Amino acid sequence: MTAREPLMNMTRRELADWMKRQGESSFRGGQVYDWLMRGADFPQMTNLSAALRARLSEIALANPVRIDQVHLSKIDETAKFLYELPDGNMIEGVLMRYHHGDTLCLSTQVGCKMGCKFCASTLDGCVRSLTPAEMLGQVVAANGYAKSQSPDRRVHNIVLMGSGEPLDNYDNVIRFLHLVNAPEGLNISLRNISLSTCGLVPNMLRLAEENLPVTLSVSLHAPNDEIRRTMMPVANVYPMDDLLQACRNYVAKTGRRVIFEYALVAGVNCEDRHADELARKLRGLQCHVNLIPLNSVKERNLMSPGRALAERFQARLTHDHISATIRREMGADIDGACGQLRRRVLQEKKDT
Ligand code: SAH
Repeated sequence: MTAREPLMNMTRRELADWMKRQGESSFRGGQVYDWLMRGADFPQMTNLSAALRARLSEIALANPVRIDQVHLSKIDETAKFLYELPDGNMIEGVLMRYHHGDTLCLSTQVGCKMGCKFCASTLDGCVRSLTPAEMLGQVVAANGYAKSQSPDRRVHNIVLMGSGEPLDNYDNVIRFLHLVNAPEGLNISLRNISLSTCGLVPNMLRLAEENLPVTLSVSLHAPNDEIRRTMMPVANVYPMDDLLQACRNYVAKTGRRVIFEYALVAGVNCEDRHADELARKLRGLQCHVNLIPLNSVKERNLMSPGRALAERFQARLTHDHISATIRREMGADIDGACGQLRRRVLQEKKDT
């Protein structure tokens, strides 16, 4: 049997053309597209003939992403999803409810190969990259969940901060951005999308040329290469000077400030001198620093320094005119951090 065609990889136009090649009218393609974006599977597409619905179920794939588990935080309504993919792989996502709308944290790969020392996603390496349809499918599935909670809820903002390194899956991520932004589809503004990278400099330079107004988030986590190399293997490949230069280039090309993520790890990167060094390095760069109290990962012997130290670090940056905030922790009771839930479930499967 040949593989079913994943229709969510296509634009509305492409789906119309595909339908024509199947010997149907292109108009039917548009109808299917509209249903898909609303989360329907073929049997539910009631304006198509029963025969066509049956045929599509055989040769095509609607949403490749299925929500397998939902863990709802009792603290803040954050929902953590475990999704299943057609090949049996599992990925995860988080839907956070903010006053300005729902934000979905999206995975771009099954696992990750970047090897950051504090991150659970990378513990078993990268299994494979996700297709554009598998990224779009996460948004459609999350929309379905949000709507089931309340009719006016839907995904407004997206952060590519789940498992995986988006810039290590460059072409598929760029295509996903175009698909999710399509006015005839989900129509999510690129300005409401943040792409987070551990700092793959050449692809950061490429991204700056794409003319897409997404927010670039950079996982910095250290004030210098020496400390950064102990936390992130990628720092051995791209020195911080080059990384910050790529950030300046992004600001110059897009006019958008860059967000730096800085996970505070006790005894590693949160002394006063680290704040001062960071402020010096970022001076003149149009940016904002997101301080993240480390989400402790069982397998990693690293700890958060606590609230008081985080506030002290923030105050020092602010004093040096570097805009900085401490990220609110969400879903702390449901394995909110990257890769934690998938890992727990895989582990449980191994144990049984
Ligand atoms: N690969 C991309 C995006 C995925 S990680 C990147 O590196 O940016 C999303 C963010 O979560 C990154 O800033 C990452 O460093 C951070 N992160 C990973 N594990 C964490 C943990 N245990 N505690 C706090 N932040 C973590």
